[in-house]
Amino acid sequence: MRPKPPPNFLAGYPVALAEQVQRLIEQGLLAGMLREKYPLAHAVRTDRALYDYVLECKGAFLRNAGSLSKVAFDGKLHVIRNALGTHTSISRVQGAKLKAKCEIRIAAVFREMPPEFLRMIVVHELAHIREREHNKAFYQLCLHMEPGYHQLEFDLRAYLSYLEAGGQPLWGAVEAGTPL
Ligand SMILES: [Zn+2]
Repeated sequence: MRPKPPPNFLAGYPVALAEQVQRLIEQGLLAGMLREKYPLAHAVRTDRALYDYVLECKGAFLRNAGSLSKVAFDGKLHVIRNALGTHTSISRVQGAKLKAKCEIRIAAVFREMPPEFLRMIVVHELAHIREREHNKAFYQLCLHMEPGYHQLEFDLRAYLSYLEAGGQPLWGAVEAGTPL
């Protein structure tokens, strides 16, 4: 028994495009296509490494946008539609200044993914420091940090759909940096 319908990771895309991904999954072709396009696994496996990675990315693009109080992989965070990761920001007054502390949690499924997908989710969560909503300014900021953002998000959502359909993880058993 399934209490809830599975999440539709491609709900925001044109139906024809979502159906094409569904067909590739059913035909057993999607996994090979993704592995060919993204042959490497990233090496960011711990919360510490993730913190450093996020900080570096933030330093390059959003140096003045508050400070990060916590960055972590979260095993309890289920990747659902509209929430690939979570971020919370608490604004508090310190002396005369309003300081924003940000916390970024990345779903544990991103621990074993190609570097491109990790970068996409980190860019997404960093952009939320500036823009709360998924609006035009938000996506412009994503594109500024990662010009291939839209394609990466689509490919990531195709991969999540594949996992949801029972597919085996593609980068789980891969030694980081080793070509498949
Ligand atoms: Zn978001």
